[in-house]
Amino acid sequence: MPKIGVLMEMSDGGKIKDTNYGVITAARGKDNSNEVYAMIIDGSAGNDAVKADFAAFNNDFCCYGVNKAIIITANGDLQNSPDLQASAVIAATKEYGLNAILGLSSASGRDIFARIAANLDEPMASDCVAIDVDAKIAVKSHFSGKTFATIQLDCSTMIATIRPNAIEAVKVADSSVNAANLENFTFNAPTSDFGKVKRVEVKKGTSGKIDITEAPIIITGGRAIKNGENYKILEECAALLGAAVGASRAAVDAGYAPHSMQVGQTGKTVSPKLYIACGVSGAVQHFAGMKTSKIIVGINTDKDAPIFSKCDYGIVGDIFEVIPALTKALK
Ligand SMILES: Cc1cc2nc3c(=O)[nH]c(=O)nc-3n(C[C@H](O)[C@H](O)[C@H](O)COP(=O)(O)OP(=O)(O)OC[C@H]3O[C@@H](n4cnc5c(N)ncnc54)[C@H](O)[C@@H]3O)c2cc1C
Repeated sequence: MPKIGVLMEMSDGGKIKDTNYGVITAARGKDNSNEVYAMIIDGSAGNDAVKADFAAFNNDFCCYGVNKAIIITANGDLQNSPDLQASAVIAATKEYGLNAILGLSSASGRDIFARIAANLDEPMASDCVAIDVDAKIAVKSHFSGKTFATIQLDCSTMIATIRPNAIEAVKVADSSVNAANLENFTFNAPTSDFGKVKRVEVKKGTSGKIDITEAPIIITGGRAIKNGENYKILEECAALLGAAVGASRAAVDAGYAPHSMQVGQTGKTVSPKLYIACGVSGAVQHFAGMKTSKIIVGINTDKDAPIFSKCDYGIVGDIFEVIPALTKALK
């Protein structure tokens, strides 16, 4: 039975990011027959939470089909050395005989997985929107989302990162894992200062807000929002929906929103379950960043706006009327 490793990511709040569960679902394979090994870098904010979850024996982590959780430790500053993390994950992969290593296509995912692939001299598929781990096939969005490439990986260990929210997380009918399925693995690095790169500081740009790449719902304001102050209308609605707020490049260039909120070709790529584009025309460069959203809603005063040819639901209307009405209804 194939054994698939999933490198877990934790949120700043010390919880397992929900977006990991889609990766775990992909790792289980078509008929849920693969063994899934969740790998957790020791010292992660959510480390204790994971241990407690397994001990408690009833948690989302287990319900999504993880067979074993491996807490990875090493002799060195594991949290701040991507080289050490990559080497430790590789050592664990060899120790447990894993056939694939999957993770999220996030800032840290991009950092560590490239190192893992280079170190193992294996090909890597990054930012996949679908994956067949048994057949070693990855699907990627190409040319600003105009085409999808299906890639056959010629490898012995499949290495791939998956776009957050691109694969729907599906729970397993019953889970029999418990604290006994939690193991520790220690990597003995040749030196305690192993690695060429060291993280010395983390600066958070959007503290307290949901990151758009992780959010299951995004409400984006385009140029029509007119100023930064008006984003409050979207934020109020987003808070009720559990959504993050995004921006078009026109809105960012005009100084209404920071670049960290920008969706699109030169911004962030997102794949939420629901994407609400408010006063966004639907330019191809914007679409490139949100095309793989499951449901797209466009709100625009111009019935001929390109967004209406690309959305699932369209509302011809003024965002300053439609959004407050939606917020009121949600309340
Ligand atoms: C190389 C390159 C990279 C780019 N990268 C990106 C990118 O990453 N992300 C991105 O977004 N763009 C990007 N762009 C820019 C892109 O081409 C568009 O210019 C931009 O997306 C337009 O933003 P917008 O839809 O907010 O503004 P506009 O195109 O000006 O559209 C505003 C829309 O709001 C509607 N509207 C006006 N008032 C209201 C109202 N009260 N209620 C409802 N609707 C209203 C209008 O009808 C219009 O359709 C890039 C361009 C280039 C050349």
